[in-house]
Amino acid sequence: MGTRDTFVIVGAGLAGAKAAEALRGEGFAGRIVLIGEEPERPYERPPLSKDFLQGKSERKKIFVHTKAWYAEHDVELRTSTKATAIDRSAHRVDCSRGGPVSYDKMLLATGASPRQLSLPGADQHSVYYLRRIEDSQQLKFALSTNSRVAILGAGWIGLEVAAAARAAGLEVTLLERGELPLQRLLGAEVAEIFASLHRSHGVDLRCGVKAARITGDNPRQANGVQLSDGTQIDADLVVAGIGAVPNTALAQEAGLVLENGIKVDQHLRTSDPDIYAAGDVANAYHPLLGKHLRSEHWFNALSQPAVAARSMMGQDAVYADVPYFYSDQYELGMEYSGHVDPGVYDEVVFRGDCDKLEFIAFWLKDHRVLAGMNVNVWDQTETIKDLVRSGRPVDSARLADTANPLAAVLA
Ligand code: FAD
Ligand code: NAP
Repeated sequence: MGTRDTFVIVGAGLAGAKAAEALRGEGFAGRIVLIGEEPERPYERPPLSKDFLQGKSERKKIFVHTKAWYAEHDVELRTSTKATAIDRSAHRVDCSRGGPVSYDKMLLATGASPRQLSLPGADQHSVYYLRRIEDSQQLKFALSTNSRVAILGAGWIGLEVAAAARAAGLEVTLLERGELPLQRLLGAEVAEIFASLHRSHGVDLRCGVKAARITGDNPRQANGVQLSDGTQIDADLVVAGIGAVPNTALAQEAGLVLENGIKVDQHLRTSDPDIYAAGDVANAYHPLLGKHLRSEHWFNALSQPAVAARSMMGQDAVYADVPYFYSDQYELGMEYSGHVDPGVYDEVVFRGDCDKLEFIAFWLKDHRVLAGMNVNVWDQTETIKDLVRSGRPVDSARLADTANPLAAVLA
C-alpha cells in the first residue's frame, strides 16, 4: 500500500463516512474517493423516524461530519453520483457523473432500500416510505397536515412512526401480519410489551391481518388499506415499513458472491480480495456467532468500517463486536445487545419492573445469555455484552435479582 494508492468507497451513508474517517485515522495517505448517490453529504438515519420526524431536532444535527471535514481530511466526496458498474479486472468503477475512477481497493457500503409493497393499488396511489432525509421531511409535513394514518408493518419503522404520529395528534392504525409486533425478533414475551405500549398510547394495533389493496381516489395519495377480509381502513395517508432490501445490484453485476447481501468474511473482504463491504449491505461472518450475520442497524454501520479500513490497509482486523441496536418510542428507550435467531431461545428472564418499563430482558438458551435488552435502565450495555460474549452458563435467579449487581452474575 503506497501513498499513490486510491481507495474508493461506494455509498456515502454512515458506513461510507466512517470508513473514510477510519482510513485517515489509521494513517492511510493515499487518495480516498467517496461516492454517494444522494445529494446530501453522509447523515445518520435514526433521527429520521424519531426526533427529526417529530420536529425536535434540527437538520444540521444529523450529518456524520461537517461540510469542511471532507476537504480537511482530503476525502473527495462525490454526491449525487451513482456508481454504475465495476470492472474488476481493470480495477475501475464507472459513475453517473464525473467520469470513472480507478481503484486499488474498494469498499462497498451501499446500504439498503425500503422493500416496496406489491399490492394492487400500491403503484397507483402514493404510499410513504422512510429511508432518506427527504422522505422524513415529506412525512413530517404530512403528519402535520392530516389527521389519520394507516401504517403497514409493525417493525421498527412502523412502531417509531406510530409514536411520532401519536405525538402529532393523529389517529393511528397499525397493521401487522404477525401475531405481535417484532415477534420474530423478540419473541412473544417481550413483543407483548411493545403491543401494550402502543395500545396504551391510543394506537389501533391490529395483528394477524393481511393487507389486500391500497385504496385511493387520486394518484397523489392513498386514502386507505383494504384488508383481505374486506375491512376498509380509511386514512389520509398510508405509510409502509415492511423491511429493507440490501443494495446489491452493483456487486451482483460485478460477479461478487452474494448471499442475503454481499457475503464477506470476518475481515469484511468479499470474494474479490480487493473489494470489501460493510454496513447494511454486508452479510459478514461473525466469529462469536459462528455464522454469517447481516445487521441492519446503526451500530454495525458505525463500527464495521474501522475493521474494513484496517483490512484494506493490509492489517489483520476481525469484526467480532456483539450486535447492538436501540430504539425510542414514547417514554420507552431501549438498547439490545446480542443476537437470537427467531424462536431459538428457551427462557426469557426479566430483571426489574416491566409495569414501570424499567427492566432488562435476557434471552437464554441452555442457561447461556444470547441477548439482553435494557429498557429505561442505562449504562448496562457493556456488562450485557460481557454476559453475551462469555458464553458461560448463568443462574437465572441471580440474573433476575436486582439486589445482585449484574456484573456479579458472571463472577
Ligand atoms: P445506508 O444508510 O443505506 O447508506 C448507503 C448509502 O449508499 C445511501 O446513501 C445510498 O443512496 C448509497 N448508495 C447505494 N448504492 C449506491 C451506488 N451504486 N452508488 C452510490 N451510492 C450508492 N438503527 C438503529 O440501530 N437504531 C435506530 O434507531 C435506527 N433508526 C433508523 C431509522 C430509519 C428511518 C432508518 C431508515 C434506519 C434506522 N436504523 C436504525 C438503521 C440504520 O440507520 C442503518 O443500519 C444505517 O443507516 C446503515 O448504514 P449504511 O451506511 O450501511 O447504509
Ligand atoms: P423491519 O424492522 O424488518 O420490519 C418489517 C415489518 O414488516 C415486519 O413486521 C415484517 O413482518 C413486515 N413485513 C415484511 N414484509 C411484509 C410484506 N410484504 N407485507 C406486510 N408486512 C411485511 O423493517 P422496517 O421497520 O421497515 O425498517 C426498515 C429498516 O430500517 C430495517 O433495516 C430496520 O432495521 C431499520 N430501522 C431500524 C430501527 C431501529 O433499530 N430502531 C428503526 C427504524 C428502522 P415479518 O417479521 O413477518 O417479516
